[in-house]
Amino acid sequence: MIPIKTFIFDPIDPVALEYARKRLDIVEWTNKEIENYSIAEAVIVRTFKMTRKIIDQMPNLKIIAKHGVGVDNIDLDYAKSRGIIVTNTPHANMNSVAELVIALALNCARKVTFAHTMVKKGVEKNSPFELAGFELQNKTVGLIGLGRIGTLVGWKLKAAFNTKVLVYDPYTTESICKKEGFIKCEDLDQVLKESDIVSISVPFTKDTENLISARELSLMKKNAILINTSRGKIINEKDLYHALQQNKLFGAAIDAFAEEPVSKDHPLLTCNNFIGTPHNGANTKDALIRMGTEAVDEIVRLMNNEETLSKII
Ligand code: NAD
Repeated sequence: MIPIKTFIFDPIDPVALEYARKRLDIVEWTNKEIENYSIAEAVIVRTFKMTRKIIDQMPNLKIIAKHGVGVDNIDLDYAKSRGIIVTNTPHANMNSVAELVIALALNCARKVTFAHTMVKKGVEKNSPFELAGFELQNKTVGLIGLGRIGTLVGWKLKAAFNTKVLVYDPYTTESICKKEGFIKCEDLDQVLKESDIVSISVPFTKDTENLISARELSLMKKNAILINTSRGKIINEKDLYHALQQNKLFGAAIDAFAEEPVSKDHPLLTCNNFIGTPHNGANTKDALIRMGTEAVDEIVRLMNNEETLSKII
């Protein structure tokens, strides 16, 4: 089998790159040959834009293997019209995102970032009153979205802290929730009213834009935490800012902002009860290796005339 000419347009983890070199005929992002699009038979992309114009310059292209999940940087309709397969790596980063949710929940509940900032400024006594937090043990978690990430978050919090898990996801069933030991709620409001920790893991769609605005925030417990690792516009950031300013929530943490990369002048960053991270959910060595090697595996499957595992089109 002659290894297929594969362009890797964005830097990938060295372990995954070595894996790719052993299996495919690689042209790396640093190689001058990367400018000669016409020889590419396969590509691996992270954020590189596979536009119609670029695709047109690749007459031999058979597969676009996305390193990651979101395929908004690929012109799917045009790739489809050209008979090009597009794959992604939907399972490679879910554990990293779920672990970030747990980290943010503990951070908010124990005010770790705020405590660190106070220590850096200088403290006069131990255990200052304003750093009093709460335990996650036996609390109620509300999952908005029970897909890959939401399910993992529920499992981890239940196993580690014996939490009760409520679910709002109109597209999941009661029996799926029951199987996981979770409780399906028909109503988003019920989840917001009863949960101590609310975690959002839904796609950004017209239905989820501003899913959490002033009304929804007003339903949450005053001692609750809100975490969003999905997409920025799912939460109305202005409304969240007002709720945090007025201490209507215990805390909130966001890994995805409406405008990215997030500005250091974002109003939410002035709130001591807020933690922001720069879309860092999937950014672990483990996930990066998995995303890279799984993208390579899809190309190898195509090369061997096998079915790809995560075919989008
Ligand atoms: P998934 O597709 O497995 O799950 C999404 C779930 O949301 C599904 O169960 C679906 O039924 C549910 N859903 C859809 N619309 C809903 C609505 N209106 N209300 C409630 N539930 C709804 O996706 P996933 O892998 O769990 O990822 C979730 C999101 O996390 C992604 O869409 C992406 O935006 C985000 N993400 C972020 C990072 C990061 O680095 N922060 C990394 C990967 C994914």
